[in-house]
Amino acid sequence: MIYEWIFLILFALSFGSFLNVLIVRVPKGESIVLPNSHCPTCKAKLKAWHNVPLISYMLLKGKCAYCKKKISFVYPVVELLTLFIFIATFIKMGFSENLIENRDAFLLSIIFSLLLTLSVIDLRYKAVPDSISLTTLTLSLFLFNIIDTFSNALLLAGGFTFLRFYVSFFLKKEAMGEGDIIIAGIIGAVLGVKLSMVAIFLSSILALPISLFLRWKRSEYETPYIPFLALALFIVFMFDDEFLYFLRLLHG
Ligand SMILES: [Zn+2]
Repeated sequence: MIYEWIFLILFALSFGSFLNVLIVRVPKGESIVLPNSHCPTCKAKLKAWHNVPLISYMLLKGKCAYCKKKISFVYPVVELLTLFIFIATFIKMGFSENLIENRDAFLLSIIFSLLLTLSVIDLRYKAVPDSISLTTLTLSLFLFNIIDTFSNALLLAGGFTFLRFYVSFFLKKEAMGEGDIIIAGIIGAVLGVKLSMVAIFLSSILALPISLFLRWKRSEYETPYIPFLALALFIVFMFDDEFLYFLRLLHG
């Protein structure tokens, strides 16, 4: 199994580095294939080794090789978190010797990593590109048993749409973005209806202190919601048995 794990780790690191390309280029409408990566400050073209995940950041000490301008710590963090997501998901799902059987673990790792990408973009721009969120939704529909997964995604997207109407009716403002409906569909596909409710409840608990803090600071910056939905989805997925046990206790 050691070779499979090494392959997975290398794949996760390169995928994380691709996600950084998405984070930099997709919101600006730039091509994700061409041209080669360049420094955003001095525009100097990067050499191949400058793109090696994590290691190049450490060797360059977090600075551009040419103009010495600081490179955001977000990029190595995205690579590390992508690695963490892949390893945790494969441990949770079990890494099978029969490679075909790892389909769901692999799809889930990709989906969680794309949600991480969307979270970073949401934190930066307060909006997410439909190209990435729709790709993630489409991938999530191929998880597990496709028919059940599809209906779970529809139920959650529908429920979230109702919730959005209620919230904007009572609070007289658009508290949830349209992008959140797509994320709700993804949560439904991954967790099923029961655990999705738990995840959405958990996301609002996670977001509450941050949004109260920002209100207290009278900050102009509004709390983005997608990072909390994504984090809650990942937590509930990792501890699904514990949450289901807790739900059974509540029902008596
Ligand atoms: Zn530079």
